[in-house]
Amino acid sequence: MTEFELIARYFTRPVRERQGVGDDCALIDVADRTLAITTDLMAEGVHFFRHVDPASLGHKALAVNLSDLAAAGARPRCFLLALSLPRADPDWLEAFSGALFELARREGCELIGGDTTGAAPVGDSDGPVTVCITAIGEVERATLRGRGGARVGDDLWVSGELGDAALALAHARGEVPLGPQQARDCERRLLWPQPRVALGLALRGLASAAIDISDGLVGDLGHVLERSGVGAGVQVTQVPRSGAMRAVERTLQLRCVLAGGDDYELLFTASPSNREAVVAAARHGGVEITRIGTLTKEPGLRLVGESGIDATLRGFDHFAGKCQGPPSFDPTRRT
Ligand code: ADP
Ligand code: MG
Repeated sequence: MTEFELIARYFTRPVRERQGVGDDCALIDVADRTLAITTDLMAEGVHFFRHVDPASLGHKALAVNLSDLAAAGARPRCFLLALSLPRADPDWLEAFSGALFELARREGCELIGGDTTGAAPVGDSDGPVTVCITAIGEVERATLRGRGGARVGDDLWVSGELGDAALALAHARGEVPLGPQQARDCERRLLWPQPRVALGLALRGLASAAIDISDGLVGDLGHVLERSGVGAGVQVTQVPRSGAMRAVERTLQLRCVLAGGDDYELLFTASPSNREAVVAAARHGGVEITRIGTLTKEPGLRLVGESGIDATLRGFDHFAGKCQGPPSFDPTRRT
């Protein structure tokens, strides 16, 4: 059973709210407002390693939630923080909370509550750290968008550059040599993702559908295609990649760029008639965007422009074949 089959079978029921399970954010109507709500959990050993910089963990735990709000075109408003910790270490907590509040301040999002518990030891070792944030934003009812609005003929766009976080992991695993500067740049993308909130807001009324890429381009685009009932052709050579990425061997490059995960860039669709407005919106959003394909009537995803792409490339799934390994792992752990 895959992660998404599990969710569909056991946790998806009809809801009276505007949007339930299946999109980056749930949407609920409250009086004349619509709120976007999302939650993301980060678990030690799955999403980050034991000795991760606590500042980067505080930043990333909020960033990944703000990224879901960005996909929905929501303006961040507030969030709740649930923490399970093996010990109360003041230095750790100072660094974690400092970076968390720095991002929260920058995005105008206030911490309004949460829960804190201990983590029981596992054998002789400390129990794992778990961080779960629930973020709430506001959306304009007139410009609601989710994963399901893509139309045949729409352009497919992506922000930033893809795959660097996955490249940082490959490097930490010893699979690929990188220069010190390249390694630092890629690790920064892994540990300090920048949620594209301003772009998400600027695209209101322009993007027909959007998703944030957390599990890899192929997998997350698949969610958009499925929910929108369309297909897509993607020009693989157009998919934006960093200098560090372009310097590595082609198979690894494709694996990272197409199926790497942990990118937290926005993937969105828009009518070709909106091209100029979309480019202007991206300038407003402070991030480069690239047009990488077109939506088609024929269902499914066609990766064109590169030969010999591994047909098994797909998004990260916590319960399926794990073709790419977990999105983060402990390079210090011996297997
Ligand atoms: P994201 O990557 O944006 O966090 P996913 O694609 O992982 O979202 O999740 C797909 C959908 O399933 C989302 O709408 C999410 O809210 C929902 N979902 C995930 N886990 C559960 C769960 N345990 N119960 C209910 N809904 C869930
Ligand atoms: Mg998402």
